[in-house]
Amino acid sequence: QQKAVVIGAGIAGIATAIRLAIKGYQVEVFEANSYPGGKLSEIEQNGYRFDAGPSLFTMPQYVDELFTLAGKNPRDYFSYDQLDIVCNYFYEDGTRLSAYASTQQFAKEIEDKTGEAASAVINHLANSRDIYDITNHVFLERSLHRLQTFLRWDTVRSIFRLPQIDAMRTMHKANSASFKDARVVQLFDRYATYNGSDPYQAPATLNVIPHLEHHFGAYFPHGGMYSITQSLVKLAEELGVKFTYNSTVNEIVVDSKRVKGIKTKDELIAADTIVSNMDVWFTYKKLLGKHPALHPQKTLSQQRSSSALIFYWGIKKTFPELDLHNIFFSADYLAEFDHIWKKQTLYHDPTVYINISSKLKANDAPEGCENWFVMINVPSNNGQNWDNLIAEARAYILSKLSRLLDEDISKLVETESILDPRSIESKTSSYKGSIYGTSSNNRFAAFLRHANQSSKIKGLHFCGGSVHPGGGIPLCLLSAKITADMIE
Ligand code: FAD
Repeated sequence: QQKAVVIGAGIAGIATAIRLAIKGYQVEVFEANSYPGGKLSEIEQNGYRFDAGPSLFTMPQYVDELFTLAGKNPRDYFSYDQLDIVCNYFYEDGTRLSAYASTQQFAKEIEDKTGEAASAVINHLANSRDIYDITNHVFLERSLHRLQTFLRWDTVRSIFRLPQIDAMRTMHKANSASFKDARVVQLFDRYATYNGSDPYQAPATLNVIPHLEHHFGAYFPHGGMYSITQSLVKLAEELGVKFTYNSTVNEIVVDSKRVKGIKTKDELIAADTIVSNMDVWFTYKKLLGKHPALHPQKTLSQQRSSSALIFYWGIKKTFPELDLHNIFFSADYLAEFDHIWKKQTLYHDPTVYINISSKLKANDAPEGCENWFVMINVPSNNGQNWDNLIAEARAYILSKLSRLLDEDISKLVETESILDPRSIESKTSSYKGSIYGTSSNNRFAAFLRHANQSSKIKGLHFCGGSVHPGGGIPLCLLSAKITADMIE
């Protein structure tokens, strides 16, 4: 039996392990933490449970596919419901609106609340679907680094339609042309943050993202987001995958440009197929430090995505006006992104996202209380004084939420934990604490991301948010598929 070693039990590492086990490999996963999931993990505090990282679940079919491939019924492991309301939006001018999953209802809500014609929303989402149809096969589901991708008929057809993906102008420019109302432009600009990018720099191709929510839908797993990790680990173990926790891989052993195995602090494990789910930057710098000539310097110098600052708050009250996903917009989006990207600091009026899983999973908070996951976008870690910035952000957020919810929120916070770019970096080895690998601000970003295998070291493969096709759960699961398909 052939053997494969996976470094890291993030979602892509687990999914790759499952796919390789199904192919007949004997798979061992080495994970530095004492738990699986990487960013997709959970924390508990004083009777509250919080999903630590991802909160928005789209494209659940990519998870189901892993169970089906293994000949199992996904519903025996893992279930979820589709959301009728994807997100509630709150603006500083008092406007509140709900993004219904149904396109018609969403368009009508926007027309009713902002005066923007419903037809503009419908047209925008149709354009989003077109971009998806063109980019899906080429940029998401296949390797961009194999000739056979480009020999396929659907790829060729997509290449002829490439001008339609709107890569030559920024997302903000395109959205300003689609909509008259600044609130609607802001709502659609926000999708750039779904992969840690800036709508004022990123190409309008990112307008593909709303299609995922409004066509395929947004979901909530019955067991919370962490149940995605748990159910996949269960499946992997049933398939014979061996997980070793608390086991940091320190080196990938390479001889004559071929992998020979890995070294942890305790042992040397021989393997000629190695998949790194560790951030590609750290894989080279920490595990392949002895072989600088084999580092892809240009790829490693790409701009990183933004990071996040999260306050996990136990709130001793319930808020009927809030739902699972809630956004409180800044009054000046351009200034906010200028602070994050150009000044590399925080803005005094940040856009605040609150995720409350206890709305759908009541036992995530004590009775009469809610578990608030309160997040703002922040720059990646470049050595800023985070202790000061966190204290400032906490004050900005509390004053904004208290103002818009008409309630002194600071008095309701009964427990608190914090995740910031430094702890994201140290907990999951993500360079600079970026949450989606490299940014998509550059129009060529899709082509500049690291491939799913090394062109210089035979037997070395990569999966996860820092490599092709990018970050976020759905793309990480696609990276696992592409990577496992490459391994013969
Ligand atoms: P990671 O989760 O990065 O895990 C890598 C694993 O490798 C870790 O467990 C780490 O400990 C391990 N590792 C690293 N180095 C070593 C080593 N040397 N030896 C052994 N083990 C090692 N995505 C969405 O789809 N929806 C969202 O709403 C969403 N929101 C997010 C919010 C936050 C706050 C964060 C942080 C991320 C969010 N994401 C979201 C992004 C998503 O979480 C990631 O893209 C995805 O989980 C990354 O998975 P990965 O497979 O790349 O591995």
